[in-house]
Amino acid sequence: MKFGGTSVGSAVNIKGVEKIITEGARKIVVLSAMSGTTNSLVEIASKIKKEKNDEATQIVNKLREHYIKTANELFEAGNAVLAAENLLNSEFDILAEKTRCKYSDLLEKEIVVAGEIITTKMVTLYLKTRGINVQLLMAVNFMRTDNNGEPDYYYVKESINREIAQYPDCNLFITQGFICKTMKGETSNLTRGGSDYSATIIGAAINAEEVQIWSDKDGLLNCDPRYVDETYALTSISYEEAEELAFFGAKILHPSCVFPVKGLKIPIKLKNTMNPDAPGTLISSESTGKYGEIKALAAKDNITAIYIKSASMLNAFGFLSKIFNVFNMYKTSVDMITTSEVAVAVTINDTSHLDDIVRDLSKFGEIECVGNQTIVCAVGNIPAQQSSISVKIFEAMSDIPIKMISFGASKRNITMLIDGNDKSRALNNLNKTLFKEKLCSAKK
Ligand code: ASP
Ligand code: MG
Repeated sequence: MKFGGTSVGSAVNIKGVEKIITEGARKIVVLSAMSGTTNSLVEIASKIKKEKNDEATQIVNKLREHYIKTANELFEAGNAVLAAENLLNSEFDILAEKTRCKYSDLLEKEIVVAGEIITTKMVTLYLKTRGINVQLLMAVNFMRTDNNGEPDYYYVKESINREIAQYPDCNLFITQGFICKTMKGETSNLTRGGSDYSATIIGAAINAEEVQIWSDKDGLLNCDPRYVDETYALTSISYEEAEELAFFGAKILHPSCVFPVKGLKIPIKLKNTMNPDAPGTLISSESTGKYGEIKALAAKDNITAIYIKSASMLNAFGFLSKIFNVFNMYKTSVDMITTSEVAVAVTINDTSHLDDIVRDLSKFGEIECVGNQTIVCAVGNIPAQQSSISVKIFEAMSDIPIKMISFGASKRNITMLIDGNDKSRALNNLNKTLFKEKLCSAKK
């Protein structure tokens, strides 16, 4: 069971988590840092990098106050509050000491994972004061990535099962999401939002019955509620559909987190800590939903489109492989691709090597780059012969310029590139057109 930042973001919410995790079968609970913490930690690291160490220390003090205030609301007896304050003070002293250091990549990595360490230690102490038999497992003892930054599944499996076996009488384990160590044994992380990924890696390692991801939403929503007024939670969705949605911007899931459990057919359940009675969304190998139906929309921002025009492409072979070789060389992954006889367009998200990529691509033709683009992705069960879906999509997009469009590689998504400024309008139009009936019945 993984609980996100909001789920552990206040004393009241932590008590809600307590109720959920102390029921039912033996389990491992993965916690994120209290909401807002990781952003503050990233800021602390960036202040240290700019040699503004005093400002970094001030942010640590603010965080310390926030955690101590939460502990005072959470812990009941006077001596329990004292124990919690001692714990938090010693953790924040360690963090404050780090703000006196010179910046390094490793220092930054050690700082950004502090939120998970402090939150799990505080929650474990709280559960212990409540008389609950609980054991804290430190993620650095089992969560290791290989030289490509991918989970070292064999190591994780061996290590975590060995740890658990030490506590045969314990039915409740708590551990940190997000945190991992590298092959060199250095602290690292699974990228932002990575606690979901921690949960499914662990789920696979222990061959869990189910992985539950608890957030502040009723499940995977049909559209992003930050952009549209009306949404509803899906009851079920397949692994592949969930992967597409997570990859193309559905914030509720880390884009990599479906993969570890997919092969083992371990279901993922998305649940709401603030509304635990809501059924949530089940992600499994079964694709439900009607044939020819769009289930949900997702959008991914900060996309750069690269247009490559070349007369020599006409009737030539090997052209695409030359182009992709450039992206390969700079380890930059391509999200969308469209081709015409004399041009290729691709989109990328990571622009850290854009200058090098453009220079190398220029050998093959004329290059144009356009930034601030957004990918809008409609996911569902879309057979090619289902023209009514395309009609609906184009109708919804009739006043929005589509820059690229991609369909057909899988029968699961129609992906469009639009200008970033058109995103909100596109999502609203599509939401209204594609989900009209469902939105009406969700209201009733
Ligand atoms: N706390 C980390 C983050 O904010 C990991 C997570 O919440 O999943 O990115
Ligand atoms: Mg998250």
